[in-house]
Amino acid sequence: MRLSTTFVKTLREAPKDETAINGALLTRAGYIHKEMAGVYDFLPLGRLVIERIKSIIREELSTLGSEEVSMSALQNPELWEKTGRFDDQEVDIWFKTELSAGGILGLAPTHEEPITNLVKKYVKSYKDLPFSVFQFQNKFRNELRAKSGILRGREFLMKDLYSFHATEADLDRFYERVEAAYRRIFERVGLGDCTYEAFASGGIFSKYSHEFQTMLPVGEDTIYYNDDKTVVLNKEVYNPEVLADLNVSEMRFSETTGAEVGNIFKLKYKYAEPLGLKFADEENHEQTVYMGCYGIGVSRLMGVIAEKYADEKGLVWPKAVAPYQYYLVGIGEKGTRAAEKIYHGREKEIIFDDRDLRPGQKFADAELMGIPTRIVVSDKTLESNSAEITDRMTDETKLIELDELFR
Ligand code: ATP
Ligand code: MG
Repeated sequence: MRLSTTFVKTLREAPKDETAINGALLTRAGYIHKEMAGVYDFLPLGRLVIERIKSIIREELSTLGSEEVSMSALQNPELWEKTGRFDDQEVDIWFKTELSAGGILGLAPTHEEPITNLVKKYVKSYKDLPFSVFQFQNKFRNELRAKSGILRGREFLMKDLYSFHATEADLDRFYERVEAAYRRIFERVGLGDCTYEAFASGGIFSKYSHEFQTMLPVGEDTIYYNDDKTVVLNKEVYNPEVLADLNVSEMRFSETTGAEVGNIFKLKYKYAEPLGLKFADEENHEQTVYMGCYGIGVSRLMGVIAEKYADEKGLVWPKAVAPYQYYLVGIGEKGTRAAEKIYHGREKEIIFDDRDLRPGQKFADAELMGIPTRIVVSDKTLESNSAEITDRMTDETKLIELDELFR
């Protein structure tokens, strides 16, 4: 990408209403644009970060054999009335609208009901089970507060995965495989050392669900952890009964804040029963399908990574999710010519700052944008046929011969 031709510009100041670090820095660095509170556009750089995160999630979910779909956001209330959720506060508040032809419809806050209804068409016998389906989809929720940048949106990108099983044991096995896949996902996006699986409240059919909580000052959840962080609980289940149930009453717990980046839930019959998702077992007896659902807040995850790594100079992306790997600056005539050569054929990896600006301004933008490696070529570095490489995360600088640059 050439900075001279991109329509987005970096901003010196963050908008006053962006109080969270992620919202302020992502806006200043040109990753996002705020339409209104809790509603953001993803600009070219922001969209690329989202795509990197999605690719990692896709890779890990494909190891579970899950298939990707894309479901509609417009929802028919009839389906949700069957589970009592269209006028219920159990899902976050709906955005509803009137049809010009009469009647009302809603913008999906989540997809348990429609996916259950959809698979009903195909699931007839035990031979059709198990399977799992996921999607990346914008959800709409009329959240009361939306002040944490992209951590809490009224429109946000979620990865939602749903699994369908003939037996509870099979659901349990799959749940464990999702837990492992989630750990790999959070590890790969750079949150491995600060994201913990926490006990959270279950539903009618399960005692507990699990949340993946990234410990972060801006996190909206209160969590409790023991000394070696092997037992973590959401505040909602931090009480003497649960501690006794988990056999951890003797442990000492500390309090901190967490951002929920994902959660996993054994739904069992919660939706399958009211929506009539059944199958014929081997004896041809009718049984209800066991279900699980597993979410990751993809746009929130991007905001959490931004918050976690940011420093006083700006964003700092781990390589795995960075929109581009290199930020290239040529200084002087020779340096600029050498930079053009380096850029050629590597347009997908490099942001080439070919703008007519002072090097200092370019360096400041390189830091603000958080691109992992800065490459500078100048008369001076070219004397030794080299480029100067600076690592955004460690601030280490070294000279590398041009031939060795991408080795
Ligand atoms: P929260 O307690 O943060 O409101 P939730 O329990 O409502 O989350 P789910 O409905 O299970 O969350 O959604 C799955 C995932 O989507 C969450 O784990 C979270 O990462 C993300 N998420 C939920 N609400 C939002 C939101 N308003 N903006 C951005 N991401 C969200
Ligand atoms: Mg919520």
